[in-house]
Amino acid sequence: MDDCIKLPLDEEQLEDLVLQAKDYLLSHGLVLRTVEKPDSNSVVTHAPVTLLPSPVPKALYEYAQGIQNNVNLLMHRIAVNHDFLWKCLEKVIQVDDFTRHLWEIYDTVTKEGVAQPYSLGLNRADYMLDCGIPVSQLAQSKVTVDSRSMKLRMVEVNLMSASFGGLSQRLKYFHKFILERLHMNDKVGQIPTEAGAADVLAKGILTAWEYYGKSGSVVLFLILDQERNIYDQRHLEYSLYQLNPKVKVICKTLKDVTERGRLTDDARLVIDGDEVAIVYQRCLYAPTHYSSEEDWQTRLLLERSKAIKCPSAGYHLAGTKKVQQVLAKPGVLEQFLTDPEAIQSIRNTFAGQYSLDLGKEGDEAVTMALNNPQTYVLKPQREGGGNNIYGDDIRVKLSEMEKSLERTAYILMDRIHPYLVQNYLIFSGKPVELYNCVSELGIYGAFVGTPDDVILNFSGGCCLRTKAAGTNEGGVATGYSCLDSPFLI
Ligand code: ADP
Ligand code: MG
Ligand code: MG
Repeated sequence: MDDCIKLPLDEEQLEDLVLQAKDYLLSHGLVLRTVEKPDSNSVVTHAPVTLLPSPVPKALYEYAQGIQNNVNLLMHRIAVNHDFLWKCLEKVIQVDDFTRHLWEIYDTVTKEGVAQPYSLGLNRADYMLDCGIPVSQLAQSKVTVDSRSMKLRMVEVNLMSASFGGLSQRLKYFHKFILERLHMNDKVGQIPTEAGAADVLAKGILTAWEYYGKSGSVVLFLILDQERNIYDQRHLEYSLYQLNPKVKVICKTLKDVTERGRLTDDARLVIDGDEVAIVYQRCLYAPTHYSSEEDWQTRLLLERSKAIKCPSAGYHLAGTKKVQQVLAKPGVLEQFLTDPEAIQSIRNTFAGQYSLDLGKEGDEAVTMALNNPQTYVLKPQREGGGNNIYGDDIRVKLSEMEKSLERTAYILMDRIHPYLVQNYLIFSGKPVELYNCVSELGIYGAFVGTPDDVILNFSGGCCLRTKAAGTNEGGVATGYSCLDSPFLI
């Protein structure tokens, strides 16, 4: 933004703008529940946001949007390929209990014969714009990076509980409002609004619901009982309502399903008298979401049902970091996509990823990481932020498990060095300050299909998450990042 507006803003202007910003956020449902009362809807707070939209090169934004349908198709084909998933994960599940539980569910229902051939993918592919220069050097030298030398680098593809579609769709209008208040009316068009993320996801849900084919059946949002990000989910519900007010959403916890859900003789999932067409999971991606073996049994019950799961166990497994590492190997994309252009355009976004399996290849990766830990990120098979290992901690962790099978539960990835932008971060209850920041761009996709047929392959909308440079992890719900909107340059 600094090309368009001189930063820092003067103090009086900033104070006034922040006041207006917070009121806008609260007035437009850009809110979260509070850390103190995560189960209360009497006390809420505004979502953490940037005051200004952050610059993103238009060409890279369009590139990421342009490949999303192929990313959707790729991940779908992986999710329904039992042999490939087994080859990727057979070693991981020897040491990682969480992934093993998922695998067992997937394997059980595959062998029993899946009750529901349709899958629903509600995906978000995340990217950073790599300028190749570590943040510490960028901040000191004040190098300006030419946007043409930046590369789009995929961080991961989320196939499970991909969030912030609801809030991001609305946030763009907030950033337009702020630009107007800064008398930058001529610039508001640089914030893309052509498709709303929540609308894209809602279209996926509606299409899957139509294919389920039973009027009066409901969409089950499976949620945590203490969920700060509930309004993001509600916005998605309202997008669905806009598309078809007849489709009813019910919100339940896993415990509700355990206590009151059942399968009919023909595998229909029924809870509290409602037949469930879609199970949209906004939880169950972390080990802490399962408190007992009984909870895993309930996940198996869902998987055995005729309801269309988002994600299915296959999709959940396809979204693991291990699968994404294997995908980056030569020749692997070719097993799933035929169009050479599509393959190349996805491969262009891959950062180097390395297996840590026992053996020569894994040993070499361990040596590389021990010699140069700042150049890598060590990732376990987890979701939701806060799980990766960086810098000297990589050395500690790898030394601990250097010769042990435990290391096969991790992958190593080249560290991406995103370019720096300046922005004000507005966290609830903290002073608003100007930071050097880095951003991560997420592109949404919705996919409905069977192993052989594509019913819907659709994409659009985005979320941008921005955090202070020097913070390793990301995640808005985890308190690291702010929601942002791209300002295309
Ligand atoms: P999760 O599923 O937990 O979100 P990610 O792979 O997205 O896992 O990693 C979490 C965060 O860690 C990302 O949002 C990003 O900020 C940071 N991160 C992940 N991979 C890299 C990488 N290769 N280089 C730099 N930062 C990374
Ligand atoms: Mg993730
Ligand atoms: Mg992530």
